[in-house]
Formats: sequence, structure tokens, C-alpha cells
Amino acid sequence: MEVAVVGGGFSGLIFTLKLIEAGANVTLYEEHNRVGYPPHCTGLVSSRVVSLIGGPAFKSIISRYDSIIFAGKNSSIRAKIKGGIYKLDRVKLEEYMLEEALSRGVKIKLNTRVSRVSLKGLIEANNSIARYDAVILAEGYRGLLRKSLNIGFNGTPIYGVNIEYEGFTSDDKTVKVIFDDKLSGDFFSWILGFNETILIGSGSEDPAYLRMGLARLEKMLGLSKKIRAYGGPVILGPASLRLSSGKIHVVGDAGGLNKPLTGGGLYPNSLAGELILKLYRETGDLNKAIETALRIVASKLRKQYRIARLILRNPRLQETLISVGSELKIDEKIGELDFDNHEEIITKIVMNPSLIRAGVNVLFRDPIAVIKMLSRLLIS
Ligand SMILES: Cc1cc2nc3c(=O)[nH]c(=O)nc-3n(C[C@H](O)[C@H](O)[C@H](O)COP(=O)(O)OP(=O)(O)OC[C@H]3O[C@@H](n4cnc5c(N)ncnc54)[C@H](O)[C@@H]3O)c2cc1C
Repeated sequence: MEVAVVGGGFSGLIFTLKLIEAGANVTLYEEHNRVGYPPHCTGLVSSRVVSLIGGPAFKSIISRYDSIIFAGKNSSIRAKIKGGIYKLDRVKLEEYMLEEALSRGVKIKLNTRVSRVSLKGLIEANNSIARYDAVILAEGYRGLLRKSLNIGFNGTPIYGVNIEYEGFTSDDKTVKVIFDDKLSGDFFSWILGFNETILIGSGSEDPAYLRMGLARLEKMLGLSKKIRAYGGPVILGPASLRLSSGKIHVVGDAGGLNKPLTGGGLYPNSLAGELILKLYRETGDLNKAIETALRIVASKLRKQYRIARLILRNPRLQETLISVGSELKIDEKIGELDFDNHEEIITKIVMNPSLIRAGVNVLFRDPIAVIKMLSRLLIS
């Protein structure tokens, strides 16, 4: 099987590696002359994702964290994370993935912009046309090819920015996530430390609000020695309902294959790549395997989307959840959280008597939000 992958970002590279493992001949097209640049991503992933990516991820680990502190305006909860959270060097990760693809015989066409694709698997680049049995469009949020075929993500992203400063955090084994509408109105902010560096980040639909929130956070933490700032569009879904058409399949940010609560793209795409491998081995039909794998992952993400929207768009609910959780010392009862499967948190609450009590408390303080949450859960 001859497969073309358009785009050498994380998604293009992970699908390239998984398809090669499945036995396909892969040609990767990337319009720039290198991968990994410009950096934009925080690079936080679960241990599951490190394993799904394999060698290149293990080689690019910068730091490991045991838990997340969810902080509201007046209280906070600490949650242990199953297997820990890893911070990866995202530029090195993509460079190592490219190296591995090269060593496994992938044809890499850098500096090559694909100008047209057709549902029959035709690709036009540098005024020549090639035919493939399957095409993966991993062109990122800004890519235009998917729009020409009317498939893939068609929502609006928010903007996310990371800023690194010289300094130490008091507890470098923890990622702090802050829900405070003065810092980020429609998303959240984060703080973490690694290698004598403090990283702060935030997201918002409104770039002016984002700048203001980050300046406030910088002042609150007394940070002054800025090293660098980077960021880009953060996709919060919903994952597209149309990811495959004919021989074309849209993945990554181009398809909205991102965790809806955080915008994380590495987990859903690593998972989809692994599923393709499994399904192709079972059925021998590559296009069907890709289509099915993408459908399974997208539907899992769409379930998370309903709850994620409700939480992100409702600062009062965020504050209530955190303060009730803190009063009832929920961190001791909740056990370890799964960094990728956010819907699991709800299941835990339903199964645990003290968490039910917390739910009742939240219901008293914010009944409308809870009714909305339950109706969304029942619909999904
Ligand atoms: C601030 C921020 C923080 C983030 N933090 C995390 C995190 O902690 N964990 C996590 O999992 N995710 C995180 N993400 C999300 C993650 O970075 C993205 O989901 C992921 O990088 C998207 O990869 P992609 O390959 O789909 O798209 P991209 O990285 O955008 O890659 C697309 C590639 O396609 C190429 N291309 C486009 N059109 C063409 C064409 N016509 N021909 C040839 N090449 C083309 C582009 O040059 C580019 O290299 C974060 C994102 C942001 C912005």
C-alpha cells in the first residue's frame, strides 16, 4: 500500500510511524525544510502517550510530575495522576520521530507544499501529480486542503501562550492549573517548573485578554527574567463528524482530534495511530482501518466535549467544584486521575459515596450547572 502523509507536525509523524509499522510504504510531505519549528506546545503527556509514541518520546523527556493542583480563587485540590505526567521537549520529539521515520525507509519530501488533493488519492506538489492508495491530511489547523474537500475541523480555536522565565518553583513535581476568570476568562492558566525554568501559560478566545491575564500572572509570581514565549491555536473540538472521504483522512488539529478540556493533541492521535495498526492487522483493509480508528477516537472525544464546554464556560461551577472538593478533602478520596480520559472523573464520582456527598453539595450551590451537566451526560 502506498500512503501519502501531508504535514510533518506531531500528527503527521505519529501516523507515519504507525503506518510504517503496519507495513505501508509512506511518503511524507512537509512544506518547511525542518520539523518541530516554530515551537508552540507545552509538551505535557501521560505515561500512556510516552509508551504509545515509543523511543522518540523516551529520548525527549525533560521532566516528570506526580500530581496536578487545581486552584480556584480561594481554594485548591491536589490530584495524583496515574503513571505521572511527562514534559517532553517538543522540538526534539519531532526531530527524533523524523529520524526514526527516515531510518525505517519513509520517503521524506521536505520543502514540498501539497497544493491539491483529490478523493481518489491524487496529490499535486511542485507541479507533479502522484497517486496513492490512502492519504492522511495532517496539515494542522491552518491547512487549507481539508477545506477544499469540505471535511475535517471547522470550528474556531482559542489562543494559547507559554512563557518561560529563569527561576525555581517550590514543588517541581506538581503542575498547577488555575481557574480564575481574571487570568483566563474562557480557559485556564498553568504553572510548572523544570531545569531552573518556570513556565506559565494561559489560553483565551481573546488575545488582548490573554496578554492581560499573563501579565497579571507574571506579576503575582514576581517573574522578571523572561527566556522565551511561544504558542498558537488550541483546538478544543468538537472533533469533526467527517474525517474520512474516499481515500482521504483528516487527522490532528486539522480534524479537531484534541482533548476538549485541554486541547491536548498528542493523546488522541497516538491512540488513533495505534488503533489503525491493530485494525489493519485484523482486516487487511487500510482505508477501512483508518476510517474506523478515527471514528472511534472522535466519538470518544465528542463525549468529553459536552462536559468540557460546560466546565470551561462556567467560572461559577469551576469555583464551586474546587471549593466543595477542598472542604470535603476530596483529594484523599478520589484516588489517581487519568490524565487522558476526563470522562472517568465523572464515573469516579458516581461510584464513591463521599464524592456523591460532594456532588450533593455542588447541587445546592449551583443547581443549574449540575442539571445541565447531568442532562449532557444522559444525552451522551
Ligand atoms: C500553547 C499550546 C500548548 C499545547 N500544549 C499541549 C500539551 O501540553 N499536550 C498536548 O498533547 N498537546 C498540546 N497542544 C496541542 C498540540 O501541540 C497540537 O495538537 C499538535 O501539535 C498538532 O499537531 P498537528 O501535526 O496536527 O499540526 P501542526 O503541528 O500544525 O502541523 C501541521 C504541519 O503540516 C504542514 N503543512 C500544512 N499544510 C501543508 C501542505 N499543504 N503541504 C505540506 N505541508 C503542510 C505544516 O507546515 C506543519 O508542519 C498545545 C498547543 C498549544 C498551541
